[in-house]
Amino acid sequence: MKSLVPAALVIVAGLGLSPAPAQAQERSQDQIESLLAAAKAAAAFDFTGTLARVCIAPQTAPGRDVAPGPAPARETWFTEPAQVFDNLYFVGTKYHSSWALKTSDGIILIDTLYEYAAEEAIVGGLTKLGLDPASVKYVIISHAHLDHDGGAKLMQDRYGSRIIMAAPDWEAIEQSVNQYPNGKPKRDLVATDGQKVTLGDTSVTLITTPGHTPGTLSMLFEVKDHGRPLTVAYSGGTAFNFVNDAPHFDIYIASQRKMAAAAAAAHATILMSNHSEFDSAVTKIKEMAARRPGEPHPFELGAEAVARYFQVTDDCAQAAKLKLAPKT
Ligand SMILES: [Zn+2]
Repeated sequence: MKSLVPAALVIVAGLGLSPAPAQAQERSQDQIESLLAAAKAAAAFDFTGTLARVCIAPQTAPGRDVAPGPAPARETWFTEPAQVFDNLYFVGTKYHSSWALKTSDGIILIDTLYEYAAEEAIVGGLTKLGLDPASVKYVIISHAHLDHDGGAKLMQDRYGSRIIMAAPDWEAIEQSVNQYPNGKPKRDLVATDGQKVTLGDTSVTLITTPGHTPGTLSMLFEVKDHGRPLTVAYSGGTAFNFVNDAPHFDIYIASQRKMAAAAAAAHATILMSNHSEFDSAVTKIKEMAARRPGEPHPFELGAEAVARYFQVTDDCAQAAKLKLAPKT
């Protein structure tokens, strides 16, 4: 990969001199612009939502510890559940994804939406698809924000599903005073980097990717398209709503590179996320209806596209880091 640091800056740094502030500012402006251009090229038509959120929209600070607002009207979020691969089912909303991975010994569920949507979208969705919600043995939570962990308590209390989360995000739930007015899921299984969650004939490999939250989990797993195995790289946290300083951006960037390398090593050709905004899940599900025999699956973008997704998040995070007000 070509270096984005202009040669002149390297020479100046090598001499132990700092460039004049105005020159330094100009150079960092040039670097920001080339990163944004690279991110835009990497996003192409596949990841426009991701690009918009992390490179274009104003960045946000971490959410405060406040109670969730009232549930929005059902028609704003409801969408039909769908079988997406031989062994993978979508039971999410228009905005947030919950994926049910069917195994020979029950279901591994990935993420649980907001609490208001869990009953109808997950329990109702699985039932509509002919799956038994009581067969959900494991629930993997990508990170402890209310749009992903809202239904964890329901699955734990009603079905005895084992809840898997990374330690820092269990701690975030335990420390929250106001975000879980109807109760919190009780601490259960603690995820570790590289851990395989195995149920029957299926395994999900967990990859810790701190950044979006300190305990964000990404994943690799296999799906089948008419019997043909394909590997999914699931990115567990995308937006920059963490403390926006250089150390946090460095952690985030390192995780994007770690997951990009893991996805490439596993020959992942599908990129999935927990927001439709980032992987166009709901749109792709609609496209599936028009798929003709022999055409590729709408989710199968190829390994090159999966790499481009992580280039977008990496470049945009580098640009956002450069935009931080310099410490004086
Ligand atoms: Zn989040």
